[in-house]
Amino acid sequence: MATLLESGAALEKVGTGAVWSEGPVWLADRSAIRYSDIRTNRILEFSEQTGELSVITDEANNTNGRTLDLEGNLIECSHRLRAVQKRVGDDITVLVDSWQGVRLNSPNDVVVKSDGTIWFTDPAYGIESPDEGLPGEREYGDRWLFRFDPASGELRPAVTDTRAPNGLAFSPDESRLYVADSSTENEPDSGHHIRVYDIVDGRLAKDGRIFAAIEHGVPDGFRVDVDGNVWTSAHDGVHVFSPSGELLESIAVPEVTANLCFGGPDGRTLYITASTSLYRIRTTTTDCTWGRLHS
Ligand code: MG
Repeated sequence: MATLLESGAALEKVGTGAVWSEGPVWLADRSAIRYSDIRTNRILEFSEQTGELSVITDEANNTNGRTLDLEGNLIECSHRLRAVQKRVGDDITVLVDSWQGVRLNSPNDVVVKSDGTIWFTDPAYGIESPDEGLPGEREYGDRWLFRFDPASGELRPAVTDTRAPNGLAFSPDESRLYVADSSTENEPDSGHHIRVYDIVDGRLAKDGRIFAAIEHGVPDGFRVDVDGNVWTSAHDGVHVFSPSGELLESIAVPEVTANLCFGGPDGRTLYITASTSLYRIRTTTTDCTWGRLHS
């Protein structure tokens, strides 16, 4: 088995002062990690070049997860707007905020498939957790994962049987979709695992089953590397599972860990959002979407 961490790699704290850090993404043109501090309603950015942490906005509409679309635009989940939005500079366009005439709950995390469709989870943390958005009702009565086609405007539920869908990512060939179930966070004895679905016809998620259980807390955000390994957050740090669900590596992080992404000029630095702080560690691999997004 190849070593997943660079020889001598050590966890480094590079930024702090947040309350609940989430939703990191690498912005190559800024050599920076952009992420959310949901509970202070801020968006933060760590510059690799200067080592400085700056506040992009303190009126962030409680953004959570983010990614890049095929054109390199930022796609963000907003708890407060109950929407998925596109951000170009300071201009924000709501892409989708309702399904069949009722509002979404609070989009949490988002990925863009190679066909340009936007897949996002819609648990209820932003309408049911204090400080993460505004109180509200589950207007469609459940918590689903949706597929949105920005070309046609079509929004369809893609996964309806994960209790509290949170992080999500496709396998390198997009034949599988992984979805975190973080429901045990607020509902004891329920889900604390990553589920996996087969993708049929490029658009249907079928035959969901448990991929890996997280023993310390819950999985929140995660990424899949070029070999198909799943790098997931947990309360005690980061755990890496092979495509068959075998635990390959664990990285202890001293704060409850919510999300992670690959970054740096070569894509091999793992950035980790964990409660108050942003951490990083050098790896030997990168995100399976790296070539598509950053080449
Ligand atoms: Mg999340």
